[in-house]
Amino acid sequence: MSTPTQGRLHVSFRPSDRAHQALETLPGPVTCAADPSGQTRAELLSDVRGAAALVCLLTDRVDAELLDAAGPSLRIVANMAVGHDNIDVAACAARGITVTNTPGVLDEATADLAFALLLATSRRVVEADAFVRSGEPWSWRPDLFVGLDVSSGATLGIVGLGRIGLAMARRARAFDMRIVATPSRSAGEEAARLGIETLPLPDLLVTSDVVSLHCPLTPETRHLIGAEELRQMGPGSVLVNTARGPIVDEAALAAALADGTIGAAGLDVFEDEPAVHPDLLALPNVVLLPHIGSAGRATRDRMAMLAIDNARAVLAGEPAPTPVHP
Ligand code: NAP
Repeated sequence: MSTPTQGRLHVSFRPSDRAHQALETLPGPVTCAADPSGQTRAELLSDVRGAAALVCLLTDRVDAELLDAAGPSLRIVANMAVGHDNIDVAACAARGITVTNTPGVLDEATADLAFALLLATSRRVVEADAFVRSGEPWSWRPDLFVGLDVSSGATLGIVGLGRIGLAMARRARAFDMRIVATPSRSAGEEAARLGIETLPLPDLLVTSDVVSLHCPLTPETRHLIGAEELRQMGPGSVLVNTARGPIVDEAALAAALADGTIGAAGLDVFEDEPAVHPDLLALPNVVLLPHIGSAGRATRDRMAMLAIDNARAVLAGEPAPTPVHP
């Protein structure tokens, strides 16, 4: 039996049925937003007032203004995402508020989508689909939508060899790709078993046919990939970004795709989400997805359940299962 929940838990979105059932088992009061896509800023600032726990989305900005609105009762902010660049973790720590995320439960789903983008961009799947739908007459010909051979020795460069980066590497290994990655403290034995070579970023960019980003968004990684890095990647190369939009200078990317500096890009995330740079929308050699990396049904349930479990634990006076360390 857990200690009765102290204070109200507010969920900034309408949770799935399974997550809702979990919320109903909590001993304390729970309030939930009505919309699965979340709340407006004004609604959230109002509803978080006096809450002891907040379960939120990556689209919710948790900053000093929100913490002030919540007041001294707030003890935990549980993000339903592994990335936590939407949360001022230092400001939370200064007020004794625990921040948690959802690591591990979305690795396979996100790597699946990154690999789908790798294949779609390399083999020009979306471009070719649009061509068939256009009704233009065609017949088999040797030069129709020729792209990059993925499983005949192409090199994948992984920037950010953590949980999702390693899951991406496992897929690339099954496709017989050569795999290189930027140095990482967390890679360990699995990286060695997968035969991953470690290279500094400039060497990785020059070496790789496909560069896939899996690092977090931090002050150091903002615009990690700009005009110079795209030039280093070179013509015919492919960039995949399922990490966070601001890691790539989107204007520089649009220019590089337009003038052939690189061959193609697959993007699940954008610099100023949900806005997309208008030049990207006009280009055929970029695949654009609306931030659906972790959007597997079971994965989304696992993310919500882990976020709720983090909130439940802190409210019951237990350690959070997956805390973010400031
Ligand atoms: P993780 O396990 O913490 O891995 C991140 C890796 O990036 C770590 O190996 C880290 O190295 C490395 N890194 C940090 N700074 C770097 C830099 N400047 N250059 C190169 N590598 C750097 O995180 P994860 O669970 O794999 O998630 C990665 C990111 O994916 C999240 O932060 C999130 O933004 C994004 N994501 C997106 C979606 C989506 O829907 N599109 C879904 C899930 C996650 P160390 O080990 O040395 O610290």
